[in-house]
Formats: sequence, C-alpha cells, structure tokens
Amino acid sequence: MIATAALPPGSRIGILGGGQLGRMIAIAAAELGYRCHIFCPEAEAPAADVAAAWTQAGYDDEAALRAFAGAVDVITLEFENIPVGSVAFLATLKPVRPGAEVLRITQDRLLEKDFARALGLGTAPYAPVGSEGEAAEAAAAIPGRAVLKTRRFGYDGKGQRLIAAEGERAGAIREAWAEMGGAPCILEGFVDFRCEISVIAARGPDGAIATFVPVENRHRAQILDLTIAPARLPASLLQEAEEMARRIAGRLDLCGTVAVEMFLGRDGRLLVNELAPRVHNSGHWTIEACLTSQFQQHVRAICGLPLGSTARHADATMRNLIGHDADAWAEILRDPANRLHLYGKSETRPGRKMGHVTRLLPLGAGGDLADF
Ligand code: AMP
Repeated sequence: MIATAALPPGSRIGILGGGQLGRMIAIAAAELGYRCHIFCPEAEAPAADVAAAWTQAGYDDEAALRAFAGAVDVITLEFENIPVGSVAFLATLKPVRPGAEVLRITQDRLLEKDFARALGLGTAPYAPVGSEGEAAEAAAAIPGRAVLKTRRFGYDGKGQRLIAAEGERAGAIREAWAEMGGAPCILEGFVDFRCEISVIAARGPDGAIATFVPVENRHRAQILDLTIAPARLPASLLQEAEEMARRIAGRLDLCGTVAVEMFLGRDGRLLVNELAPRVHNSGHWTIEACLTSQFQQHVRAICGLPLGSTARHADATMRNLIGHDADAWAEILRDPANRLHLYGKSETRPGRKMGHVTRLLPLGAGGDLADF
C-alpha cells in the first residue's frame, strides 16, 4: 500500500499513449479540473485533440521522457505495450500508475497466466512454445484444438493461429510458430465457451478497490463488436467474476484500472483469458450508465481521490463502430436513443475503432435481451 496525498484538481496528468482511451481519460480528467499531457509517437493522436499538451516522441526518447515527467505531476497509460524500461525510467522522476511491474506481467501472456494460476484462478490449459522441442512438448501437453499466440504484442486476435485437433499437431505447431517469426509463444487449449465476459476494477493508492458489474462481450473478426451490460448470468457468477477481479487488482498491487477478460466455460467455470492494466473498450457503457464512468474512476484512482460509486442507473449495450461503420453517423444520430461517440480519427481503415454507440435500457431489462 502506498500512502500518498491526493493530487488536487488543477494538477497535470501525463498519459502514455494517444488513442481513444487516452481521449476519454482526458475528457473525464478535464471534468474534474485536471489538465492532461499526452505522450505518444504517432503523428495523429485522438487524445491530443482534447488535451492541454502533447509530446510527439518515441517511448525510447529519454530526453523527451524526462521533459514530459518534468511537465506533469503523475503519469498513467492508456496502452499497455509501453516499454517497461521507459516506465521504470519515468518512475525515477514521477509516480507512474500503474507501475513497471504491472506492465511486465500483463505484457506477457505466459507471465499473466502464471500470475492468474498462482492466485488459484482458472485459465485455459497452456504451455510455452519458444523452440521446436517445446512445440512437441506443448502438442503432447495440450491435446485437441488449440490456439498458438505470441506472448507479447498481441491484441484483437493479432498474432494468433488456430491449431486443429487432428493430424500431426507437433508439426502444425512448429509450422505456425515459424510463420510467426519464431517469436516466444504460448499454446492454449481452445475453450468451448458459453460466453466471454469482462470485469473492470479500479484500485487506489490506499488499496481501496471498486469493480463495475461484469459485462458480456461479443466479437466480430476477433474485434470487440458488442458489449451487453450486465452480462446475462446468474448473480452468483457475476459476484464470483467481480471477486476474481478484486483479487487480481490486489495481488498486482495496482494503482489504476485493470480489465479482466474471462471465458465462461460450458462447465460453468470462469477462466481468466487476459488482463489489460488500463481502461477498456468493454467499459465504455459506464460513461452513460453508471454514477462514475471507468474513465473518471481511473482518474480518481491515479490521483488518490476517493473512488466513486460504480452503481448503474441503467442497463446498456455498447456497439463499436469499426472502419466504415462510422460513416453511418448521421443515421445513428437520427435515433434519439443512440449515444454516439466518435474518436476524431481522420483515416478510416478496416478493423480500426472509429467510435462507439451506447444505448441505455431500463435497469433489469438487459437480462431479457434476445440472444442477438
Ligand atoms: P485474446 O487476444 O487472447 O483476447 O483473443 C482474442 C479472441 O480470440 C478472444 O476474445 C476469443 O474470442 C478468442 N480466443 C482467444 N483465446 C481463446 C481460447 N483459448 N479458446 C477459445 N477462444 C479463444
């Protein structure tokens, strides 16, 4: 537990990463009177459009990192693949929340799964694949259908190959591994899940934790398409999922936000799939449906303010606008029940998250949604 004084409104928050998550953190921070300074290498930064300051520089540019740290009071991130060394360097200058150790674990699927298992939480069966020998061992250890994933830098299904249950599996794994450039990988047993859910937890510097209700996530082409809040599951499972997220946030000694993605297996077991040490796409519905949004909660956590109530006053659905989906903005706005968010990205590319639409439902109505 870190004993710290709260950073008062008016302080400056540095955000590593310039995407839409940073944009929505900066908007929430502004509502509480903070000023945000974005640091990212990209020439276009949706977050910088709504922030007080922006540094465009590489994460390995020490002089730029030093100047950035000098210009802010606390540093956070909206993107977990920031080099751990850069975060450790920044931490010698200003508090970085979450810190380098949280990133070290959550940047690596193997460490992440080891971490979940050490907490006694379920995961898909997994084995490392970092050599031809390990490919054969993994084939034997994980029979049946499986997924080979790069340990690092995978998102939205990138860096993944399906391995069929039949045939010469060790050879198929070796081949897929070579196609992935021989990068360190893990082989995961394929989970025949009933649904995918996620839970977002925020933890303050004093160890206080607050979770949002678990939500159900539907993917299209491995990119999040639809979130249904809350997940249409029995209360006991919702509670269990929240408890798992609390334990993860506590054991990580997190200051900030973590999103825990889980599978609900056909056997009723919850398995941890992935941890993201930041605000998350599946939490966007909280902007309209909860007393405190995930973005404001994150700002509260990193600034040492009391965490807000995560109670929801409505159920909700959130649909991502991917690529040219966002071209329909005028039509979307014509339906007064739609709450449209656009991220201000100038170039539309297939698979690119351009915005999202939230629709509120009366409390309790989410459970009656047809299986759409
Ligand atoms: P990930 O990048 O690990 O979140 O994977 C992206 C998506 O691929 C997940 O949301 C699932 O829909 C699917 N997926 C990943 N791992 C598995 C698995 N072990 N079994 C079944 N589906 C998976």
